[in-house]
Amino acid sequence: MDILMHQCKVHKLPTLLSRTFFRALKRSHICATHTSPPVCASSKPVIPIPLVSRLFQPSNLREGQEGGDLTCRSQRLMLQTGLIHPSNPGCFYYLPVALRSMEKLVRLIDEEMHAIGGQKIDMPALCSAELWKTSGRWELMGKEMFRLQDRHNAEYCLGPTHEEAVTELFASQSSVSYKKLPLLLYQVTRKFRDEQKPKFGLLRGREFYMKDMYSFDISEEAALETYQSVCRAYGRLLDRLGLKWVQVQAATGNIGGTLSHEFQLPADIGEDRLVVCKNCGFSANVETVEPGQTECSQCKTGTLTETRGIEVGHTFYLGKKYSQVFKALFVNALNEPLVAEMGCFGLGVTRILAASVEVLSSEEAIRWPGLIAPYQVCVVSPKKGSKAHEATRMAEDLAQSLSNSLANLRGEVVLDDRNQMTIGKRLKDARILGYPYVVVVGQKALDDLPMFEVICQQSGETMFLSKDGLVELLSGVETI
Ligand code: ATP
Ligand code: MG
Repeated sequence: MDILMHQCKVHKLPTLLSRTFFRALKRSHICATHTSPPVCASSKPVIPIPLVSRLFQPSNLREGQEGGDLTCRSQRLMLQTGLIHPSNPGCFYYLPVALRSMEKLVRLIDEEMHAIGGQKIDMPALCSAELWKTSGRWELMGKEMFRLQDRHNAEYCLGPTHEEAVTELFASQSSVSYKKLPLLLYQVTRKFRDEQKPKFGLLRGREFYMKDMYSFDISEEAALETYQSVCRAYGRLLDRLGLKWVQVQAATGNIGGTLSHEFQLPADIGEDRLVVCKNCGFSANVETVEPGQTECSQCKTGTLTETRGIEVGHTFYLGKKYSQVFKALFVNALNEPLVAEMGCFGLGVTRILAASVEVLSSEEAIRWPGLIAPYQVCVVSPKKGSKAHEATRMAEDLAQSLSNSLANLRGEVVLDDRNQMTIGKRLKDARILGYPYVVVVGQKALDDLPMFEVICQQSGETMFLSKDGLVELLSGVETI
């Protein structure tokens, strides 16, 4: 068989193709993957388009139930749209659509953590009581800790946080060179806390995902530099999600240490009370100021006003609190063993997911941070029996070609194929779920130059675009 080289316009990579295939593709300048096999040697396989009729997305609000009795907007919307399903109090099933968002959020977190030198690990959820007794927190944690025994009656807990475990891990390495520091280890795992009042859906669960990072440094100065670098990464992450946030002075609680900040999203349903000085920008959790204090302790002239916030992140400078007791040592240039300086940095993954829905959505419809929307585009096919019905195939092809020819939209396009339903009803569902772009294949798709109705749900704009126009618009969508 004759084989020819073909430069794919999308992948920008040469592909080996048979002469017949080469001829067929020459006009479009895209590679074989974007039509049908043979597959472009340099590319990934075609992803089938998810069909809305097949998505496992069971609504958890009973027929006629408005959800008014549920405690907050994000919980109601996430149950209504089949993103989560309740299990025990404070525990949820994360369903496919929600999990896509969460995985994107984790990718974003990974990017930011790698950018500051973080290395990802995964620690056991089952933690020995011995570790917690060594730090003195076995008693201190009280009822918040899920405790259990193994068959030999040894005591364990389900990790609510991992300062003890990670410090022991570091301490188990006999002579960590100062050249390896700062060392930043982090994980994204389930945490278990027997919260007194689990509520607000994913905002306060008893089993939830947290990103927790732990830093080891050679000196207090270096540890504080690391501390600032992690705080900047948290700020960048929240900016990339398009969320309004404040970094406030915070209490250290049972984690300990001497310096601490919380990252808060201002929201009326927030459980934290914050004070902010409009004069100098000082902001703090009320736990850290005198009761009733109204004068700003930083500028001494401004007045503190109170707002509420949802805590999404918490940073601590720990000093030697854990490294001293666990003997987490490094060796300096003179080959002397010294106790490492530590910091720890938590970010609530499931809480950020729910909190973004909480602060960006309206009462009726979800709005996602664009980057972590579960799918970027929903193509709506024509209604069965309507004049536009002939364009059904066109809707399927459009969804396929957007997903497989635009690198940023790979796997990001769903087809609402429920064509026994009116377009209006499906648009309503799409609005509630908050796909950033909805493309309706209606009657105008049958014109000589087919046109598609495009609704940009983030901006509220609606426009009619040709396929080229649509491709141009969507190729600019940022994805992760
Ligand atoms: P809170 O004050 O809200 O109870 P915390 O101060 O006990 O939280 P940290 O120990 O600082 O929480 O945990 C780090 C991050 O983990 C928090 O900033 C939050 O985003 C998240 N988180 C904590 N508890 C929960 C929970 N019960 N459900 C979901 N996320 C949580
Ligand atoms: Mg906290």
